[in-house]
Amino acid sequence: MNVPIGSGEPDSSELAPDLSQVLTLRGVRKSFGSNLVLRSVDLDVAPGECVVLIGASGSGKSTLLRCANLLEVVDDGTIHFAGQEITHPAVDADAVRARMGMVFQSYNLFPHLSVLGNVTLALRKVHRVPASEAEQRGLAMLERVGLADKATARPDDLSGGQQQRVAIARAMVSNPTVLLLDEVTSALDPELVGEVLDLLTELKAEGVTMVLNTHEMGFAREVADEVCFLHDGVVHERGSAAEVLGAPQQERTQAFLSRLRL
Ligand code: ADP
Ligand code: MG
Repeated sequence: MNVPIGSGEPDSSELAPDLSQVLTLRGVRKSFGSNLVLRSVDLDVAPGECVVLIGASGSGKSTLLRCANLLEVVDDGTIHFAGQEITHPAVDADAVRARMGMVFQSYNLFPHLSVLGNVTLALRKVHRVPASEAEQRGLAMLERVGLADKATARPDDLSGGQQQRVAIARAMVSNPTVLLLDEVTSALDPELVGEVLDLLTELKAEGVTMVLNTHEMGFAREVADEVCFLHDGVVHERGSAAEVLGAPQQERTQAFLSRLRL
């Protein structure tokens, strides 16, 4: 149930989702059996903003992104996306997902399709864009990620970094309202991480709204407008990268970051 913004009740107006945000999570709760992963997560993502989720393995970063993308059904709480409550049971999840780009650790490209075929597949099948227009948009997107010369190649002929850039192109080609990125460099050899992070830094500079989780703290410092540390099913500490990564206030955040630096 929406609480009207500025209703004069400080408590509820503080909690009310701000519909000018791209994404707003309020009290999101998610368990798997008896494993309570997200207890009560609040999150706001403004247009053009990059929110970086950090936290120990198993703290629920992927689950949070999957809930936002409606790949998981939340147990409680609300998610608003572009002004609409998407946790409402009547919502068409496919239609919501078509307006979000999601990129995973494993790129999941179709090996039997060309790079261009992979990038244009959803445009043609989901968005019903005519083949010639889909091809034009796909090529322009491949140009943008620096892989125009690989349009006719098969994914297997590309490096991991290139394949992940194709997966990002595939997510971006439909002009999604938000890009959700789940540890997109974790499966890559160290020397291939940079090209993917550089691409994301460029997209951020172009104003693409992003929520991502990563263990690359240098990158997080560079792109994050807000860093959220997930612990014990909630955002335990949040703030600018300088605040959360540079001068964490909470003991748990400090412990997590010091473990990373070992
Ligand atoms: P993170 O991405 O922060 O490492 P995850 O969101 O992947 O954490 O997982 C959080 C917890 O939820 C883990 O304990 C994991 O085992 C559990 N979990 C995640 N997805 C599922 C699922 N589909 N079924 C059962 N348990 C799951
Ligand atoms: Mg994960």
